Parts: sequence; C-alpha cells; structure tokens
Amino acid sequence: MSQATNLNFATKCIHTGNDIDKETGAIRRPLIMANSYRLPEDASAMNWSDPNQLIYTRTTSANQIYLQEKLAALEEGEECVVLASGVAALAGVFFSFLDQDAHVICSNVSYIAVYRLLHEYFPDKYNIQTSLVDTSDIQEIKKALQPNTRLIHIETPGNPTTRVSDIAEIGRIAKSVGALLSVDSTFASPFLQKPLSLGADLVIHSLTKYINGHGDAMGGAIIGRRELIDKVKRQAMVNLGGVISPFNAWLIMRGVVTLPLRMKQHSENALKVASFLEAHPSVAFVAYPGLKSHPQHEIAKRQMAMFSGVLAFGLIADAETHNKFINALQLIVPAVSIGHDESLIVYTGPNDERNGFYPEEFKNGHIRFSVGLEAAEDIIRDLQQAFTACGL
Ligand SMILES: *Cc1c(COP(=O)(O)O)cnc(C)c1O
Repeated sequence: MSQATNLNFATKCIHTGNDIDKETGAIRRPLIMANSYRLPEDASAMNWSDPNQLIYTRTTSANQIYLQEKLAALEEGEECVVLASGVAALAGVFFSFLDQDAHVICSNVSYIAVYRLLHEYFPDKYNIQTSLVDTSDIQEIKKALQPNTRLIHIETPGNPTTRVSDIAEIGRIAKSVGALLSVDSTFASPFLQKPLSLGADLVIHSLTKYINGHGDAMGGAIIGRRELIDKVKRQAMVNLGGVISPFNAWLIMRGVVTLPLRMKQHSENALKVASFLEAHPSVAFVAYPGLKSHPQHEIAKRQMAMFSGVLAFGLIADAETHNKFINALQLIVPAVSIGHDESLIVYTGPNDERNGFYPEEFKNGHIRFSVGLEAAEDIIRDLQQAFTACGL
C-alpha cells in the first residue's frame, strides 16, 4: 500500500505510508521510540550521517520516514523532510538555500519567526539582504528583483492577514531569474492547495496546524524535488538538529487520516462565521479569502479548492472592548495556534513589531480567529452572546 501513487487524495490520507507490521501482523505500523538502530556487521564504509538510513534518530527515524512518504504523496512531490516544527522547516529552507550575500524576496507580513530570521538575523550574520514586499502585488515583486535574488518566499494565505499571493505567476517570475520559490502553505493544507503543481519549488507546512489537526503535536515539513530536499536533510536536519520525535510523527500520521473531512468542515464553518461577522453592524472589517469582499478572492478561487478555516476581523471599538469581547466568549478558546479541532481566537493590539506592514484596517489591532469543527450554529451563538455582553 505504501507504493500506491495513483490513488485519490482521501485514500492516500489513509493508506500511504502505512503497511502491515511484519513482526506482529498488526495492520498499523507501530510507534518506534528508539534513539539508535542496529549497525551493519561492517559499518566502516557507512556514512554515519546518511539522512535516508536508519542509524540514529537525529538522522532519521522510522515513524518520520512513514510520515514523509505520506506527505510527499499528498503534495504530489518527489520527496519530503519532516522536522520538529514549522519554524524548523522554514529555518531549514533558509539555511540550506541562502548563501552569504544572497538576496531574498519575502512577504512583508509573514510568520513572525520568518520575519525575524530574514529581516534581522540573516542580514546581520550573513549579509543576506531581504526585500519585504506585499507579495499579493506582482509589480512589487518585479520591482524588488536583484541579480543575486536566490529565493522568493511567500505565505499564502498569509498569517494573520489572509492575504493571498498568486503562486503560478510568482513561480514564473522566480523561474525567469533562476530563483527558487518556497510557499508556506500551512493555512491551506495540501487538501486545498498544491503549490508544487502551480510552479513552486518547495512547499512548507507547520504540521502543528491543520495536518495534525488535533492540537497535541508539533512538526514541520518541506516537500519538493529530491535534490532540494536531500540538501535540507544533509545540511539542516542532521546538523541543526531540529528533528521530530517519533511520537509526534506518529500522532501527526494519525491526525492526517481525516484531513479532507476536517478541511471541508473548517471551510464551511469559516464561511458561515465570516458572513455572519461581515453582516454585523459593530464589525469594522472581515478578512477571509472566501468572501467576495476579499481583495484576492479571484486568485484564491483559482488556486484553492476551498478557503480554509482562518479569518481576521476587527470591531468598531477600542482595545479594551476587544479584550472584553474575547473574554466574554464561552466556547471559543482564547489561545494561539490555528487548525485545531476547537475554535481558537487571539486579539493582537497595535504593538506588533510588524504593525507598519499590516493592511490599514489591521493597524489598530485585529482578531485572528481559527474557526474549529464545532457546529457553526454554536460558534455563531457564542459570538452573538459576546457582542451582546459588550453592548455591541
Ligand atoms: C504556526 C505557523 C508556522 C510555525 O509553525 P510551528 O509549528 O509553530 O513552528 C509557520 N507558518 C505559518 C503560516 C504558521 O501558521
């Protein structure tokens, strides 16, 4: 079953990477918590850091290999590397593909660690220059190109703006200058968006979010051509050491089985919630790629199957009332992260270090809402009673 490549997405979610356990006949591969594997009789010719051979769990583990097989199949890529977190995957890409004096173009609002790595640490340590631009605007990307541009990194939909960037168009631009395009596709998951088939070279996921989906394990993945992924394994996985625990790989393998069902439900719920919020007189704005009012709704429709579960909004109210609103919620949980089974909500005030880059309506603070898998009716009722409690 591990060889099946012509299967439909939902079938691969269940079967790919799984097999009968040879020792026991169990119909699920076991969790193997071991740091080391038996060496061959003569190990003298061995590459001790071979990331494709079972030697030592920092160079790879059995459960990691099973998960890599599944995720490569889901993204329709040649190869995958799984790491300890989404940030380990992002840092692995930057460390492996950016040499001294290189230039990068990156979404100006992106995951906070990306912002710090590319905007602060890499420029200071390695003289790597970064242009932070609004990558939903193709002209801005073209203007930022330099002869030493080696990488264009986009996040689409972006966190927390939900801004959508045109993967196919940016892929063509990257190719024309010999740069790589990496896409953080965490918000979409492989069920809703396939960056590699649209022309990206690398797709990155925080497995912590939708792919695991149950809020109980962290992980990250990079998928792409074998030669690129091998480079990440050899340079970043083995030597930076951000390896995933076999237990987390096992949990994520179990979570991903229901990915299509969950993504449909997240997307349906989020569209209902976004429509409810947009119609509410005390709501200042709603950013959700599935709404006609979203500035990149047309691009989102082209490159995504549905619009996933994350939206952002603001109230026509001061910071104090925003906090009051969040604390009045009874079902929706105030906590960071996205893509869990339960609904999660965060209010970020205007002190964010990236505030200057946010779209205008975000600048007075915004609420990020990861719409969960509860009944949409219950989620909306919770929002409604919080509005009432705040006199809105
Ligand atoms: C959460 C997140 C990450 C970081 O993932 P971790 O698993 O928390 O390290 C990266 N990109 C996006 C878009 C995210 O939402």
